[in-house]
Amino acid sequence: PVPKVAVVGRPNVGKSSLFNWLVGKRVAIVEPTPGVTRDRVSTLLCLDFNERPTRHSSPRPRFKDVRDLLEEEDEELDEPSQPSDAARYVELIDTGGIGIVDRDDLSDHVERQIRIALEEASLVLFVVDVRDGRLPLDEEVADRLRRINRPTILVVNKVDHPGLEDRVAEFDRLGFDERILVSTKENRNRSGLLDLIARSV
Ligand code: GDP
Ligand code: MG
Repeated sequence: PVPKVAVVGRPNVGKSSLFNWLVGKRVAIVEPTPGVTRDRVSTLLCLDFNERPTRHSSPRPRFKDVRDLLEEEDEELDEPSQPSDAARYVELIDTGGIGIVDRDDLSDHVERQIRIALEEASLVLFVVDVRDGRLPLDEEVADRLRRINRPTILVVNKVDHPGLEDRVAEFDRLGFDERILVSTKENRNRSGLLDLIARSV
């Protein structure tokens, strides 16, 4: 089975941006597919981090059912002549894509994300925003994630330039050992994050 990776975090930190950025043009499927993942956004993500995402250069990906892809993958694995270091995949889940964000009940929104992470994911990408800094809702997410005790990578997003790196230290108090700095906007450290995911699942 393909490991599931849940993208979690308060609204506006860049979860959906991260999701699209990671998947790039290598996207195999984009959910929701009715009846399968009706109430969330998920996609198969290739962890071949040697490939840089290319913009405007490849044709639009063909929409495909995840089960077709998994079957194809199985067939390849059954074939003895195939190299064993074939590209690995995870299913990436944008847990924040579920339902509507109710500004009056952000805790509920967070709670839903945590539940999906707990029920489905073997790895959590906990996204925070370096420009906003550490907010109370980030601490709430962190508390909940610590309690479910699932392997978690703290993804500090919006580190658009080196001048913002000094501000990353304030997230140390959230208490996650695995930490990575990225900017989806400036395309910083995508391969580093894919590498870290590959080593963490
Ligand atoms: P979500 O609510 O967590 O899914 O966040 P979104 O992906 O919708 O992004 C929220 C806002 O942050 C949008 O305006 C994005 O364009 C912006 N954003 C996302 N990533 C970055 C980044 O790396 N740098 C900057 N400066 N803005 C970003
Ligand atoms: Mg979103």
